[in-house]
Amino acid sequence: MRKCVKCPRCRTSSRSHSTGKAMKKDTVLPGRLSKIKVTWDKYWCPRCKVHFTMITHLNGEQYHSTGGQYTPRAKRRALALRKAGNSFENVYRKTGIPPNTVHEWASK
Ligand SMILES: [Zn+2]
Repeated sequence: MRKCVKCPRCRTSSRSHSTGKAMKKDTVLPGRLSKIKVTWDKYWCPRCKVHFTMITHLNGEQYHSTGGQYTPRAKRRALALRKAGNSFENVYRKTGIPPNTVHEWASK
């Protein structure tokens, strides 16, 4: 059965057209990156006429994915630490994500 989710832009119900598994880097343990298995589904929004990807963790958490080798959860954690006033070095020590990667995310 085809899965359906709402488009992250316009909330139109969109159908999945392909699915697969991937390994992504995530901050499961403090200061260390682990590779975790996720499943991804590609969807097509008929209104925006764009493809978008949702990734689902084994525990059922689902995220809109913009690609990249890190999970949105890892990205969110790093940016939250940065916002809380941590230096890039500190964020690296706490998450294992290199300073230049966090810098790139923070400057968008
Ligand atoms: Zn849409």
